[in-house]
Amino acid sequence: MPERIFGLVHGATLLLAAALPLALACAPKAPPPPPADLVVRGGKIVTLDAQRPVVEALAARGDTIVAIGSAEEIAPLVGPDTQVLDLPAGALATPGFIEGHGHFLALGLSKMQLDLTKAATWEDIVKMVGEAARRAAPGAWIVGRGWHQDKWRHPPKPAVEGLPLHASLSAVSPDNPVLLTHASGHAVFVNTKAMELGGVTRETPDPPGGTIVRDRHGEPTGAFLETAEDLVSRREPPTAAEMRRAVELATDECLAKGLTSFQDAGSSLQVVDLYRRLARTGELRVRLWVMFRDSNERLAAELPRYLAGNLDKYLTLGGIKQYMDGALGSHGAWMLAPYADQPDTSGLNVTPISEIEASARLAFDHGLQMCVHAIGDRANREVLDLYERIFAEHPGKTGLRWRIEHAQHLDPADIPRFAKLGVIASMQAVHCTSDGPWVPSRIGDERAKAGAYVWRQLIDSGAVVTNGTDTPVEDVDPVAGYYAAVTRRLADGSYFYPEEKMTREEALRSYTTNNAYAAFEEKLKGTLSPGKLADLTVFSRDLLTIPDDEIPRTHVLYTIVGGNVRYARPSP
Ligand SMILES: [Zn+2]
Repeated sequence: MPERIFGLVHGATLLLAAALPLALACAPKAPPPPPADLVVRGGKIVTLDAQRPVVEALAARGDTIVAIGSAEEIAPLVGPDTQVLDLPAGALATPGFIEGHGHFLALGLSKMQLDLTKAATWEDIVKMVGEAARRAAPGAWIVGRGWHQDKWRHPPKPAVEGLPLHASLSAVSPDNPVLLTHASGHAVFVNTKAMELGGVTRETPDPPGGTIVRDRHGEPTGAFLETAEDLVSRREPPTAAEMRRAVELATDECLAKGLTSFQDAGSSLQVVDLYRRLARTGELRVRLWVMFRDSNERLAAELPRYLAGNLDKYLTLGGIKQYMDGALGSHGAWMLAPYADQPDTSGLNVTPISEIEASARLAFDHGLQMCVHAIGDRANREVLDLYERIFAEHPGKTGLRWRIEHAQHLDPADIPRFAKLGVIASMQAVHCTSDGPWVPSRIGDERAKAGAYVWRQLIDSGAVVTNGTDTPVEDVDPVAGYYAAVTRRLADGSYFYPEEKMTREEALRSYTTNNAYAAFEEKLKGTLSPGKLADLTVFSRDLLTIPDDEIPRTHVLYTIVGGNVRYARPSP
């Protein structure tokens, strides 16, 4: 066995298994096996397969892995028509990375809007909108997304609750309605024109589960939180052509960043229809696992039809999505105790629990996983209580793998309940490092230390922790998520309670085996084992051994889906 197999892998399981004697993964004795369509060799291939955790080469035929092993073992599978990928020195091939929670169509649509994620100040945003307004057709909507008041160099002035007032925005775009979505997706900021079109005045009451931010005279400031977004989001929905384009843009973005599968955290039946059409015509190039997000009435009527024939390696309809609360950034996360920086609120419940319960029963009856968004510690407790109640009614049905999306702030008493109930903590490591600078001001140091993004405590308690980015809330780049998981290092170089970080192997598993498990797809994905899909990600550096500060400089060299090289990094 080549010496480099030893000592490179973190984690006792891999080391132990790597020391086992080599066994042939395919039968090389007569008759000779048919050649492979694709052979990957030359770098280090971490399979996460307990039998052969680290190998030198991998062979695929069609969309399936047929053999893994040493270079000599795989050599006989190279035929005249075999595509051979010789990896450069230092490269690492892993099971295809899976985005564990993102919004696929929104990722694509975000590429078609003003990108506000890099804006340094509110004034920058006003300037961008002003320029867009000069080019826009009369009356056309100007849309943007990704602003975050805590990421600006200085707070806006004037401000209400840390958010700007619409006057400056309305001045640069008097005739075109403007809709700017917060990075979290849980707030929008609009101008006068958009409020006019929505019929919003100072008399408009706050809707259930939402807040119209108002100045001290009671006038709406332009900020609409949670369900109040709907009052001013009167924009025409995207056309079929725009949606189709969004799918292409999202696909290209995922492939360029090393993702072979994507767990879509909530699509309407209309969007699912688009995915189904594309799956049927073979036009999906990234594998989608989708949570339904639609009314209980429509789901009750339509699910049987949608789930019949739900068998496609590129599209799986696997869950139902609901929202218990909002986001921490907009004080919408539902907490057990008031916010440290806004003691008059503890956040809010955005969907009546009876409605979430009805969705959960639909999920149970149709064999789908329930996936509830919960950020605050109160929201997480409510979801755990609801799941526990439903599980208790069906003691014979175990292993449902229901999920809590985000599981971001937990009361210490609730941490062990994830493992105990078999509930998956569907988390996003990169949220920890991008929100870290302002989390303690929102909830205080004590709650931040005890229960904010507590992967270590969850893993140690036996829970399955997955990883993702909630894109377009964050960049879909899994290297950034991996780096956040293993360092918890903030942009300023400080660390956010680093005792909660994952090991390198845990972080790799969070993006591969755990995400596969969280979608009941571990038989097809998550490890590089013969018989599984030939989905691989190849990185320029060995993410398991390089120093921490080299992780963010690691690139994706190849993204391979079903044995097809769908992305290759252009040579410099
Ligand atoms: Zn989400």
